[in-house]
Amino acid sequence: MLLATIVLVAPGRLRPVPELPEVESARQVLMGALDRVIRGVDDNDEWVCRPHPPGEIARALVGGRLVAAHRRGKTMWCETAARDGTPGPHLGVHLGMGGRLVVSDGDGERGGGEPERPDRTPRKPEWDRFTIVFADGGTLRLFDKRRLGRVRLEPDLSVLGPDAETIGRDEFRTRVARSGAPVKARLLDQGVLAGVGNLLADEILWQAAVRPAAPADELDGPTLDRLHAAMGRAIASAIANGGVHTGEVIPFRHADASCPRCGARMTHGKVGGRTTWWCGREQG
Ligand SMILES: [Zn+2]
Repeated sequence: MLLATIVLVAPGRLRPVPELPEVESARQVLMGALDRVIRGVDDNDEWVCRPHPPGEIARALVGGRLVAAHRRGKTMWCETAARDGTPGPHLGVHLGMGGRLVVSDGDGERGGGEPERPDRTPRKPEWDRFTIVFADGGTLRLFDKRRLGRVRLEPDLSVLGPDAETIGRDEFRTRVARSGAPVKARLLDQGVLAGVGNLLADEILWQAAVRPAAPADELDGPTLDRLHAAMGRAIASAIANGGVHTGEVIPFRHADASCPRCGARMTHGKVGGRTTWWCGREQG
């Protein structure tokens, strides 16, 4: 366990945790599971499917279909329809710290969520924590080695702020600046806005040249607007390029690295309880 912990935090070897862009790629994969008749559901993992006992999600879905796939922040949910077309319960899916959705059909399979790496241990069937089998023989699987993902009916979205990809400039200003907490902590707070994790937050703050520990309520309007714009660009770029690990400053989040923009030394510390890297000159 100790060894695993060391590997997780070793510089440059940080496992990417699904943030908004990874979850959006999983949602797009989920679109391939829509409008297919559900023949069976394996919901036997009582931890991943809590609070549902085994069989409860299956009873709600078998015979019906998933009809729409939505996302807010890092939470996805599907609208469902029963056999006769009447609306069924929402099916919530959260990728946790390393989950991946895999959808298969006659043409093969597509995955989305945590980026796959060529050196990864081969997939073990027991790491499929939740599976839907369609009448056409294809499947939807939540592959999650770490078992921190979650599947549940009627997920509670009321605890989430607006989605980081779509929040407007004025609402961003108001929500982020409502407290004197470090601005990075405000960006990470899923109740303020939903979808930004640790890497994306560092990328946004670096792009906007804002000090991560600056009290949010002391930032002026133009600075907040710059952050909002940087967030929009960072999210769009990460979605287009395959994940938050493709951010411009992400490869420079380690000791002895220099800022890729100005050449000053990169600095690090804990902000909002998370390991944070920033440019010692532009964000000092
Ligand atoms: Zn710099």
